[in-house]
Amino acid sequence: MGRLLNFVPFSQLDAIVLSHLHYDHICDLLPLSYYLKAKGITLPLVFHKTDCFQKSIIDDLEGFEKISMSEKLQIGEFELSFEKMQHPLESYAVKVSDGNKTLFYSGDTSFCSKLSKFAENSNLLLIDCGKEKNSAAPHLSLADAAYLAKTLNAPVIASHLNPELEYISPSEQVIIAEELKTYSV
Ligand SMILES: [Zn+2]
Repeated sequence: MGRLLNFVPFSQLDAIVLSHLHYDHICDLLPLSYYLKAKGITLPLVFHKTDCFQKSIIDDLEGFEKISMSEKLQIGEFELSFEKMQHPLESYAVKVSDGNKTLFYSGDTSFCSKLSKFAENSNLLLIDCGKEKNSAAPHLSLADAAYLAKTLNAPVIASHLNPELEYISPSEQVIIAEELKTYSV
């Protein structure tokens, strides 16, 4: 949250979308709630109301307009669509389209058939690369990302990077995410 605030005022954000409610995806909402309340800002927060302890925390947070994830949502100029993936806690991939180009975000997931199918026809793929190749962790690997880039013929940004792993791009189509970098397709 603090790092994002260095580059964009929260009053300029249209919404926050949570793929799922694991702590590493929601923990910044707690201090953000203080900030929004102090500034008198209400920020739309889209998430699936999965029945879990984390949902009860979010229910109590002020500063957000809580929007239940549905099949499709319109936020500003963007249409968002969601598909359930495979993860220990219910997790959703997200597609964001302006009617011309589509960004696909995997959220956290194991490799599954719904992943490639939902990502079809996207122009840019933002992919969870949190696990080592052949590990059983419920995430994707850089090798999975390279496979998706090749089969779907779209560039991939490798994200959800694990600080214990070394990331070397396996192909021109796979870019390791870097802060402050912009990408065009
Ligand atoms: Zn997760």
